[in-house]
This record gives sequence, C-alpha cells and structure tokens, in this order.
Amino acid sequence: MNTLALPSSLHITKNYSNGAFVETSKTFDNISPVTGKVLSRICEADKALVDATVQSARQAFNGIWGETTVEQRADYLLKVADIIERRFDDFIAAEVLDTGRPVEQAKKLDVYRGIHNLRTFAEIFKHEYSKTECFESHLADGSQLLNIIKRKPLGVIVSISPWNLPLLSITWKAAPALMAGNTIICKPSEETPSSATLLAEAFQEAGVPAGVFNVLHGFGRDSTGEWLTQHKDIDAVTFTGESGTGASIMKTVASEVKPVSFELGGKNAGIVFEDADFDKAVEGIIRSSFTNSGQVCLCTERVYVQRSIFDKFVKAIKEKTEQLQIGWSEDEKTFMGPLISHGHREKVLSYFKLAVEEGAQVVTGGGVPTFGDERDQGAYIQPTIWVGLPDDARCVTEEVFGPVCHIAPFDTEEEVIQRANNTDYGLAGVLWTTNLSRAHRVAPKINAGIVWVNHWFARDLRTPFGGNKLSGIGREGGTYSMEFYSEPTNISIRL
Ligand code: NAD
Repeated sequence: MNTLALPSSLHITKNYSNGAFVETSKTFDNISPVTGKVLSRICEADKALVDATVQSARQAFNGIWGETTVEQRADYLLKVADIIERRFDDFIAAEVLDTGRPVEQAKKLDVYRGIHNLRTFAEIFKHEYSKTECFESHLADGSQLLNIIKRKPLGVIVSISPWNLPLLSITWKAAPALMAGNTIICKPSEETPSSATLLAEAFQEAGVPAGVFNVLHGFGRDSTGEWLTQHKDIDAVTFTGESGTGASIMKTVASEVKPVSFELGGKNAGIVFEDADFDKAVEGIIRSSFTNSGQVCLCTERVYVQRSIFDKFVKAIKEKTEQLQIGWSEDEKTFMGPLISHGHREKVLSYFKLAVEEGAQVVTGGGVPTFGDERDQGAYIQPTIWVGLPDDARCVTEEVFGPVCHIAPFDTEEEVIQRANNTDYGLAGVLWTTNLSRAHRVAPKINAGIVWVNHWFARDLRTPFGGNKLSGIGREGGTYSMEFYSEPTNISIRL
C-alpha cells in the first residue's frame, strides 16, 4: 500500500498570488484516484483574486521583472530547479498522490522533466534570446537604413494545463515564458493541484519577485480557467488539454485577438512493418499504448500491423499485456496505476461498451480489475486491446485517453500511410521497421508533429513540439518556444 504523504503546507492547498499564499472561502476536494479518499482541500480562486493576480502580474511585468536581464532570469530558474531537486521527495509525493502513477515513473519522467525543463530553457534562452538580426537597406535617394530586430516579451501570459503530466506541463510553459521576460499565471488542472503549489513554494524560496509567477486553482467553465482567459488585461494564452476545450478558449480570446499556443488531443497511429524487430515492436507498442494508463497525449490508440505478422503480433501483445502489473504506486513492479478519476473512468468504460456495440473483438481487458482492498474504491481499469473494427468506428477515430488500442492488419506501405493519416488529429506517430529507406520514406508522409522510428516518447527539448489539425496550433520547445513567448520588433534607423 502507499505510505507517501503530502507536505503539510498542501493539506489546505492555497493559491499563490503576488508572492503570497492566499486562502479563499470556496474549496473543493482533491480525491485520490488510488483509494477514492480525500487527499486535501483546494482553495478555488474567485473572480476578485483573478483580477488582483492579473494586476500584480502586470505590475511586475512593467516593473521589477521588466528590468531583469536574461542572465538574471536564468539564475532564478536555476535556483528553482535546485530547490525542486532538494525537495525531490515532496514533489514525488505530490505528483504520485494526485495521479496514482508509479513512483518510478514520477522519478524518471515527471519530476526529472520538471527540473530539466527549467534548466534547459534557462540555458537555451541565455544563449539565444539576445541574438539580434540586422538588415541594411539602400534606398533610391542613396540613403541607408539599418534595421535591428529585437525580441520583446508579450506581457502577462495565462497558462492552462491538464492533469496527465502536471509538473512537466506547467514547467514546460512557465520556464520559456519567464525566460522571455513575461510574467505568468498558471492554472493547473483541478485534478492535480499539488505539484503546481509546491512549485510556487520553490519560486517563493528562490526569491523570484512577487507577481512574476502565480498559481490559481479552480475549474474551467464558469471558474478560474474561463475568468483568466476572458480577462482583458492578459496578453496570451498557452493551453494544453482537450481539443474541445481549446476550441472554446479560442472563441473566448477571439474578440481580443490574443495569441494562443495550443497542445491538444491525439489519436495517434503506430505502424508495425513485417521487417520490424518483432519483440521490440511488441514491447514498444505496449509502452506507447499503456504508459501512464494511456493518459499521455502521445499514446498510440490505433495500431496497424502488416498482415503477414498480424496474428503472431496480436497473440504476443495479448500475452505480454496480461502480464503487466496494475497496482500500488510504491510497488516497484507496478507498470500502471489507476486512471485520474472515477469520472474519467466512466468515460473510458463507455468506450469499452461502445467498442463491443461497434463490433470489436476484445483481445484482452475491457473491464475493471479487483484487488480485495481499498484500491477497489479507486479508478483502476484494465489495459484493453480490440481488433475487428472498421476504420470509421468511433472507437478508432475518437480520442479515448485510456489504456486502450485497436489493432488492424494492413498490406502495403501506401495503404497504411493513407489510413494512418485518415484522422482529424495530427499529433504523433510511431513506426517499427528495420528498413532504413522505408523509415525515411514513410516518416515524413505521416501528418503529425512528431514521428518516432523504433522508439517512443523520448524527446530532445530543443526540438519543436506540437500538433496539426485538431491536435493544436503552433510549436513549443527550444527556440520554437521563444517564437511564441516573445515578438520581434524592427527598429529602423536612418544612417
Ligand atoms: P481539459 O481540456 O479537460 O482540461 C485542461 C485544462 O483546461 C484544465 O486545467 C481545465 O480546468 C481547463 N479548462 C477546461 N475548460 C476550460 C475553459 N472553458 N476555459 C479555460 N480553461 C478550461 O483536458 P484534460 O482532461 O485535463 O487533459 C487531457 C487532454 O489533454 C487530452 O485530450 C490530451 O490529449 C490532452 N493533452 C495534450 C497534450 C499535448 O501536448 N498535445 C499534452 C497533454 C495532454
């Protein structure tokens, strides 16, 4: 069973606004997805606190933060990273208790990447942000102009993030936004408020000036998320979450023409060619379909396997999937924890039912595991594999966001490219093949922001990240983040 405990400062989880932790009268429960028990009480930011926070973020932007150099901002972020490293166990507890994920995953992915995001963006911006471009112009009258292109921050950024990778998502946005000289108000998901609040403690301890980094808790519609995105005095919104939520945020900011960066949903394809390293492909598709209980935007929910190895592949993946351990976060053997909530489990179970109605054959899973202990009150679900659905079935076209994939046979390269691209989404793809020419031929034809060949999920933070179509707008990562969080100004001087 789990023995982790939230740090006492989170028992009543407060908002962090203008350098201070603020309680509000309206609270909601943070529920453990492992046991269904209440972990902590969360203070929901009201409209007055949203207003006051935007105002203080504006003041900091116009004042003390606006006067910092990029090197000074990097020093602050590096201090925050060091504090997270020192309080590693607290961050692990926060992330694991809110989500129910395995401790091993939180160590190697979530908290590790939180630190890495801060350090990487600090270094990249230190080297790249103050680079300027110059253009000399020669005019018809013989005079000359010197055009100097300087980057400027946008102002007050609102970051709205999801529950699936909480610390990773928030640091992925806050680090480049702050390095560019913006101030930021972060609204973490109502399901995972803890690590964002610990991050605020780290910013406070690092001495980052009041108003620069803020965390407000609450929900989306008719709550903190909507009030922040509706606010007239914010300058841009960076959002990660469902495509439908992205569409409604876009409508909200449309009248003010605010810039948006959107990282949205996916219905990602995995393609296994007959020349793939069979065992690695089976293991790879299991990882890409079931990691984090399938709750990663990059997870594979549609698998296409070349017909000559289809039956062997389905048999092997069934066998290996049935050996996956579902259980306590602290058990080192646990591969999968629960889904994030009972509400989300209802949604995923409704797809399990729909798949059968649509004619799927359930290869494995399709239900809820039982443990005979308090985990039976949690939101656990079985990893599930379907075959036999047509390409236009809802279960093959809609994002489920659970530990589930549909496997279909294919015959030719051309056919599988067309079927992989036959989706409203365009986030990620994964190819398994040992044929180098084929890898080079097929990968660029997959309409997605990232295509992995013979691996999945590993990222270099300097590379662009984002999606096409319903999967998002824009790219973040490395200097691509700089493009969103700052804008170039042309200073044109007549010589
Ligand atoms: P969600 O859209 O329900 O919620 C995300 C955030 O938006 C939460 O903080 C929520 O409170 C807020 N929100 C909801 N409605 C809002 C509104 N009207 N105005 C302002 N804020 C609002 O998403 P989720 O369920 O938390 O996360 C899962 C989704 O996120 C999946 O679709 C997944 O694919 C996607 N995701 C995408 C990426 C990516 O990089 N492309 C990464 C992680 C998750």
